[in-house]
Amino acid sequence: VRNFTWPITQLSQVSNMLQMMSAAAERVFEFLAEREEGADATTPERVSSDGSVRFEHVRFGYVPDKTIIHDFSCDVPPASTVAIVGPTGAGKSTLMKLLMRFYDVDDGRILVNGVDVRDYARSDLRRNFAMVLQDTWLFKGSVRDNIRYGKADATDEEVERAAAAAFADHFIRTLPGGYEFELNEEASNVSQGQKQLLTIARAVLADRPILILDEATSNVDTRTEERIQRAMDNLMRGRTSFVIAHRLSTIREANTILVLRDGDIVERGTHTELLSKGGFYAELYNSQFKAAV
Ligand code: ADP
Repeated sequence: VRNFTWPITQLSQVSNMLQMMSAAAERVFEFLAEREEGADATTPERVSSDGSVRFEHVRFGYVPDKTIIHDFSCDVPPASTVAIVGPTGAGKSTLMKLLMRFYDVDDGRILVNGVDVRDYARSDLRRNFAMVLQDTWLFKGSVRDNIRYGKADATDEEVERAAAAAFADHFIRTLPGGYEFELNEEASNVSQGQKQLLTIARAVLADRPILILDEATSNVDTRTEERIQRAMDNLMRGRTSFVIAHRLSTIREANTILVLRDGDIVERGTHTELLSKGGFYAELYNSQFKAAV
């Protein structure tokens, strides 16, 4: 199944977030630092990075008197996959922003590796995460440097191993200059699918316990799509993954699907469980997915 789209996930908010975190990242961090001055903590010693995540009765609104997330709880064991689905504006990207502590909860708490996110130094907290976004994160520079961005001190061999695990090695070697090939400003001199493979390679190299994935829905050929899928499988193996999902295969294989509506989980379970329940998810599936399968 490819090029399958939940019409309900327009993801504009997510891509806003992602853009913020790349091009305008500095401005955002300045902004956040201003808002939250003095709120940073010293990470407790000996935090084990197992990648477990727990939301406990989280309540949050961007502005007072307009609660977006009402009472969100979710226990995510290490190395499991959570697919988050729901209509635009449901709160999917807000949850991810809270997880990485771009905003503080109004009530409840979020634990990463069993430690409240507010008890970490922000930089230490964020070292738990790698994000696989769309093309927004590639910059003008060599393919090698773009992948190495995941881990600044990586050797050439590590870069190439990560690329191989992301099924990117093959196409990179066909580029003029291979790993030294220069991506242009928009990385428009490689294909959409190749950009995705490079972004995945970077995340493999970064080797973080928790992944935040925004599945792309770009037009790619079947072979590239298969490579992307296998690269994602390699990346997600052994890591805790939150996927704002577009692909039916991802949703089907997730340990848990969270169906969000207006900041609340309206349903949760596996694909099979939710289908047999005959509720909101089943309705979405029957109206949106079946034809695409
Ligand atoms: P989703 O990712 O499911 O599309 P979001 O988490 O982006 O939903 O948005 C949830 C709600 O929060 C929406 O009503 C959205 O308009 C609002 N929202 C998102 N970001 C901001 C922000 N920075 N300031 C104020 N409201 C926001």
